[in-house]
Amino acid sequence: MYADIIVDISHDKLDKTFQYKIPEELLGTLEVGMRVNVPFGKGNKMITGFVVNITNQAEFDVERIKFIDSIVDEKVLVEGKMIQLAAFIRKNYGGSMNQALKTVVPVKESVKTKEKKSIRLVLDKVKAEALLTEFNQKKRTARARFMQVLIEEEIVEYSLVTTKLNIGLPVIRFFEENGYIKIESEEYYRNPVKARETDSIQNELNPAQKNIVSGILSDYEAGKRKTYLIRGVTGSGKTEVYMSIIEKVIAEGKQVIMLIPEIALTFQTVMRFYKRFGDTVSIMHSRLSKGERYDQYVRAKKGLINIMIGPRSALFTPFENLGLIVIDEEHEGAYKSEGIPKYHAVGVAKELARMNNASLILGSATPSVDSYYKALTGEYTLFELKERAANAKMPQVYVVDLKEELKSGNRSIFSRQLKGLIMDRLNKKEQIMLFINRRGYFGFISCRACGHVMKCPHCDISLTSHKNGKLVCHYCGHTEKQVSLCPKCGSKYISALRGGTQMVEEAIAKEFPQARVLRMDLDTTAGKEGHEKILSAFAGEEADILVGTQMIVKGHDFPNVTLVGILAADISLHASDYRAGERTFELLTQAAGRAGRGDTEGEVVIQAYDTENFAIETAAKQDYVEYYNQEIMYRTLLSYPPVSNMLLVKFSSKYEEKLIKAVNTVKIQKEGVMVIGPSDAQLYKADDIYNKVIYYKTEDYEVLTQMKDKVEEFVKDNPDFKYVSVQFDFNPLNSY
Ligand code: ADP
Ligand code: ZN
Ligand code: ZN
Repeated sequence: MYADIIVDISHDKLDKTFQYKIPEELLGTLEVGMRVNVPFGKGNKMITGFVVNITNQAEFDVERIKFIDSIVDEKVLVEGKMIQLAAFIRKNYGGSMNQALKTVVPVKESVKTKEKKSIRLVLDKVKAEALLTEFNQKKRTARARFMQVLIEEEIVEYSLVTTKLNIGLPVIRFFEENGYIKIESEEYYRNPVKARETDSIQNELNPAQKNIVSGILSDYEAGKRKTYLIRGVTGSGKTEVYMSIIEKVIAEGKQVIMLIPEIALTFQTVMRFYKRFGDTVSIMHSRLSKGERYDQYVRAKKGLINIMIGPRSALFTPFENLGLIVIDEEHEGAYKSEGIPKYHAVGVAKELARMNNASLILGSATPSVDSYYKALTGEYTLFELKERAANAKMPQVYVVDLKEELKSGNRSIFSRQLKGLIMDRLNKKEQIMLFINRRGYFGFISCRACGHVMKCPHCDISLTSHKNGKLVCHYCGHTEKQVSLCPKCGSKYISALRGGTQMVEEAIAKEFPQARVLRMDLDTTAGKEGHEKILSAFAGEEADILVGTQMIVKGHDFPNVTLVGILAADISLHASDYRAGERTFELLTQAAGRAGRGDTEGEVVIQAYDTENFAIETAAKQDYVEYYNQEIMYRTLLSYPPVSNMLLVKFSSKYEEKLIKAVNTVKIQKEGVMVIGPSDAQLYKADDIYNKVIYYKTEDYEVLTQMKDKVEEFVKDNPDFKYVSVQFDFNPLNSY
């Protein structure tokens, strides 16, 4: 047996492994992740390295391979655990060991001290309050927002002000010149959140919350480690529950990782944790530089922080004493990696928790069918929060049949009911969110004479028309000029179907000219801070209506929003994969959850063509359990996850014929494993690359990992596959 050893765990050296023989006496003891002494180089100088792989295949002349000398530590170190986690990821999600290691090991960048600027309020509270009132009266919303935060926080980090709060330089300068604030600098060891004493004001937990906290903590104290699922409607106080449990866990000297989808990682959320836990909290997000990220890892390893909040990648924080992992909004698709390895954060978190003897809490208003299934079948422990915490009521939901609207002569994209409610809110100066299901879905150009659809020459999907007169492919970015005559039949009746976000914006301008509108979709949120800016402008009540795609429904809290309209709720049902219903239910429920989070009750209008679809019906009733019951019946019937497991293998090549020939030679089978395909991928041709897929379905996940190994083996050094690449996706969330 041989071990691959890495002598320097840093991101750019990960592919530099050295092979050693495993001496007889270490066989069985030596595992991946352990630190060993090995003779190195010509002089056989003794150095230490980590075992990243154990194999029976020698990479070169067996006679020349040296022996490992000895194992260094009895316990596996933090770095070793990360290597073990990488091995787990490689085994369960595909990709190479190197790709897995690159996922878990941070890029090392030299740590430089940077200048940190912060803004301090230098007025007394009375004056500040007076100014706040004045700004509000004069509708100087940015100034008011800034003053509000300064009154609450006193000191705010400069970069948070310009990014999360979206306060422009002129406003900051105005405050400085008038002597309201002072801008201060200090050298600091980069921490994205600022130092400040913790706040003492806390909500007393309600009985339902207490029940969960004591349930989980009594397990914890009894040494029981489990996975918990908290299903709690939006605003039911899940975050408060997490915080109470976290407090206890860190009081015992343990550390906590809290995952939040990046898009929900707002200023408010961060502040809430910061106020409760102070400087030992750190955040990880994609806007941090490589150096800042690396500092986070160093601080975590040194024990300077004990709570890491962040998206997926925060899982790889090297805590020595991890006690708890929390995954909020666990149903989010963003928890699945899009790159290779295509790991799912929930699966990796389970393994990480197991390795560290830590607990795992999953939370959501609309748990994934997968998690709820596991909760009902006993794999997870289920807790529920059925009511909103702060006495805010659940919104009133109406469903409008768009077919009926058309029949009665209403050709507007707004139903009569929605129109009436929009007028009402505009009059009351309350805010409105209008949500369409998917950007540009309706934007495709078709000929009403012959049915021809304008498609991307590289991707075989429909092009989307943009206001600037261009047709754009959303997969590869291909752009061409708008056509006025049908290229197939010459008819002039070729145009875009109506319904994109821009179109909604135009319809509002026509039907409600007095309304101030903000639009949020992939086009308006280009650039790093794009969506942040729009959201904070809307939070600052700089607009009456926010129009957007899925992005606007995620975890944002706007107390003045009392009406949510969903313009065509059933669009996403037409996506051709088994999770279409789940996504639709989840989107509708989350969107409805945006209405009425303040003191006033909210209303929601769901407009749809297929009003009888159960995902829409149950979402309108906000009845998760009924939705789940129907969905799981369908999944059982068709052996879809979570009842069964599924492995997708995607074969891609520039050369169509080589691809077809190669894929047809793949005849890997196993008893009890259903094989579907090979068939054309939904995107058969994308970016000039052809794609074919094979699906394997079986109940046992482990069996699927064996199927993956077999495919890998079959493809390796196989001349047919010289120009064909292979990719794996376990329980894919998207259609291929
Ligand atoms: P969730 O995470 O489920 O959306 P939050 O924890 O954010 O819910 O709570 C929603 C709102 O209710 C917050 O403003 C929070 O401060 C408040 N809240 C939570 N628990 C309580 C409680 N026990 N008493 C009063 N207010 C509460
Ligand atoms: Zn035509
Ligand atoms: Zn394209």
